Amino acid sequence: MTGLPLRADLVGQTAYGAPQLDVPVQLNTNENPYPPSPDLVRAIADAVGQVAGTLNRYPDRDAVALREDLASYLGHGLTASQVWAANGSNEIIQQLLQAFGGPGAVALGFEPSYSMHPLIALATCTRWVRGARDADFGIDPGRAVEVIRAEQPTVTFLTSPNNPTGTSLPIEVIEAVCAAAPGIVVVDEAYAEFARDGTPSALALLPRHPRLVVTRTMSKAFALAGARVGYLAADPAVLRALLLVRLPYHLSAVTQAVARAALAHQAEPLATVKAIRAQRDDLVIYLRARGLAVADSDANFVLFGEFADRHVVWQALLDRGVLIRETGPAGWLRVTVGTPAEMTAFRAALAAVLDADPGAVLDKAPDAVLEVMLDEAPGTGPGGAQQPAGEGVRR
Ligand code: PMP
Repeated sequence: MTGLPLRADLVGQTAYGAPQLDVPVQLNTNENPYPPSPDLVRAIADAVGQVAGTLNRYPDRDAVALREDLASYLGHGLTASQVWAANGSNEIIQQLLQAFGGPGAVALGFEPSYSMHPLIALATCTRWVRGARDADFGIDPGRAVEVIRAEQPTVTFLTSPNNPTGTSLPIEVIEAVCAAAPGIVVVDEAYAEFARDGTPSALALLPRHPRLVVTRTMSKAFALAGARVGYLAADPAVLRALLLVRLPYHLSAVTQAVARAALAHQAEPLATVKAIRAQRDDLVIYLRARGLAVADSDANFVLFGEFADRHVVWQALLDRGVLIRETGPAGWLRVTVGTPAEMTAFRAALAAVLDADPGAVLDKAPDAVLEVMLDEAPGTGPGGAQQPAGEGVRR
């Protein structure tokens, strides 16, 4: 960048951003594919209409009514004093790193994971340390504790379900990390609502761990990505620390009103979660039947591979009007679960790409495994076969 006094540690960095391309099937940013219903649109428009007449005034700086609604949505006995909201969970993470990171501090994450964690660490001058995940994308508690002891992070990130792998963490792993970590432990639960039955939430651990922070978002299950609403649950002392770094009036009156309207009608967006989970489980079974390696998913996306050259496959899908995400470990691709029609289009495009180039897939599955998977495959709709839990990565 010529002539600009850019911070030395930002020189040469590239900006984050998934391609926003105008193609028929967009399955690359883990959005909920179902737009708000006409009823919800009306409720949102009414709520915005009501605040429109007061926009000469600043909003409630502390978003108390919204935080009350979010606390009651989360349950677990939480109150507004333990819930904080911001413009997307990205801003929540930024506020956490502004308050608890910074020069001299270390933030730790277990990769592959959400790429904004290290990028926000960079932006807040926090040194980023990469912990490792296992071959099945889980986290070994013993190795996690070792790296925590060695690095003494002030902020440790656990993403569960993890992006881009879809993997959720057993509660024992989260507890082991909380016990060993000298600082804040952030469990990023952006995709929690999509988890398979019986998957634990770290919210249950809050009473026992005052330095635990659980972050959530309305961008995924609530189908509200465009409104930019993220939130966290934590001890009130954590919230008091965030008040030191948040910008005054950071959450607009319009955003607060939209979020509250969506929460008041939560049954509708949350009903889409059931359909998405069923589509996801069908997709996992289908991809395995095609001989692909697939990570078990508790999210609204699936990581699959392994390809000799994933970019070639990504581009060939895009050429057929299907945009997915080139992310995660080399050789893998991530696809967001869309509507049934979008998934049909994705499968048709993928089948065409793989049939045209069978060598695109590395390391074919053994025949025996493939046979079992094919038995499970045929057209399961919502409520159909669930992908078996806890198997890690399978072909
Ligand atoms: N955490 C994870 C794991 C995510 O995947 C995302 C979005 N891709 C976010 C946080 C941020 O979402 P938002 O800012 O829309 O709440």
